[in-house]
Amino acid sequence: MSKSLQAIRGMNDILPGQTPVWRYLESTFAELLDAYGYSEIRLPILELTELFARGIGEGTDVVDKEMYTFLDRNEESLTLRPEGTAGCVRAVLEHGMTGGGQVQKLWYTGPMFRYEKPQKGRYRQFHQIGVEVFNQPGPDVDAELIILTARLWKQLGMADAVTLQLNSLGSSEARATYRDALVAYLQQRFDQLDEDSQRRLTTNPLRILDSKNAQTQALLADAPTLHDYLDEESRAHFEGLKARLDAVGIAYEINPKLVRGLDYYGRTVFEWVTDRLGAQGTVCAGGRYDGLITQFGGKPTPGVGFAMGVERLVLLLETLALVPEHLARPAHVYVCAFGEAAELAAVALAERLRDALPGLRLLVNAGGGSFKSQFKKADKSGARFALILGEDELAGRVVGCKPLRDDSEQENIAWDALPERLAVCFEQAETKRTKGVSV
Ligand code: ATP
Ligand code: MG
Repeated sequence: MSKSLQAIRGMNDILPGQTPVWRYLESTFAELLDAYGYSEIRLPILELTELFARGIGEGTDVVDKEMYTFLDRNEESLTLRPEGTAGCVRAVLEHGMTGGGQVQKLWYTGPMFRYEKPQKGRYRQFHQIGVEVFNQPGPDVDAELIILTARLWKQLGMADAVTLQLNSLGSSEARATYRDALVAYLQQRFDQLDEDSQRRLTTNPLRILDSKNAQTQALLADAPTLHDYLDEESRAHFEGLKARLDAVGIAYEINPKLVRGLDYYGRTVFEWVTDRLGAQGTVCAGGRYDGLITQFGGKPTPGVGFAMGVERLVLLLETLALVPEHLARPAHVYVCAFGEAAELAAVALAERLRDALPGLRLLVNAGGGSFKSQFKKADKSGARFALILGEDELAGRVVGCKPLRDDSEQENIAWDALPERLAVCFEQAETKRTKGVSV
């Protein structure tokens, strides 16, 4: 027997039962960003491999171990994007969108790909919603990014379940001095470091701060901290950010171990974390990357952004029972027709109703069937009304209109009067519902 085909490990189907939550999350976010003046950008999923090698950096887990890379038919090395920032920077440079100091406030959403060990909250195809701002060097915009994510948590009802961790990485000179101090400290304790951290001591020492190894973390307790090395300007920038968060009442925890182990990340870094999802607790991570654009050969251009993990947010909504009811949108009307002539009339009538009542969710019975079976389907569709067309109705140019969600009487309505009558019926049903009668 041939092996049955299955989805690739770590790549999930998002089934119809789940898409309403996804749409809810995406539309809540899109409306919020509209309100803050951000514009959507849509970017390719495939890019040249070199883009990520330069944009994320050799020596990172993502580039060294996690990318889906292949040669295309033209022998060109391509990679499925593991994140959105690099592609976004490429696009704004390619289209001259940041020249002359033009400010860009952009957002995007879509699938990202990383070859990781799949587990709850960690997949090989996952989705991010990301925001990037260019040519705004001040702490005001860093604060705005955090403030708007805080508003999102509030709108989703999860504000109590997430906390904000904050750090400043300082200037690249400050980081270089700190890096030397950290390396000197750890070098003396080399044998006590875990294997990954030993390797990172030469490739990417700041990432050691992020180690999950308990013994390494214990060693770090007395290590020099980045804060003691911060330059004056970065210190002032960080104070400016904190003052704005204080002004709107957003609580934060300073975490000196929060790092992005790349040279072009500097100053602000932040993460929103939750303790409700187990190990995969970071739902949103961001920071300032003023040095990144020069990596791509562009003029020095300040950049700051964040990305949130959609799967983790969906899991959190579900875990906290915050998925609103009625996200699924059931049909309003289900049209039953009996006999070929009635079926023809039904399809024409249905299209006239769609013309007259835009937004009407109308299902026309397909595949014929007895009275009983068509009503069963009408009921299952969630529709408020079944419209019935048989030989008698056809002869009288009427339809039977049967309320399915309350016990009002079935009535016959003339075809021409149907749109208007149906609109009235909906209004009445709505009034009953708001008065507590379920329809
Ligand atoms: P982690 O430490 O969890 O691996 P990361 O630092 O690799 O995260 P980023 O590159 O900063 O993650 O991505 C931003 C966000 O995207 C993360 O905070 C997380 O919510 C989400 N994310 C990252 N990788 C995955 C994945 N493999 N599956 C699901 N969500 C992910
Ligand atoms: Mg990761």
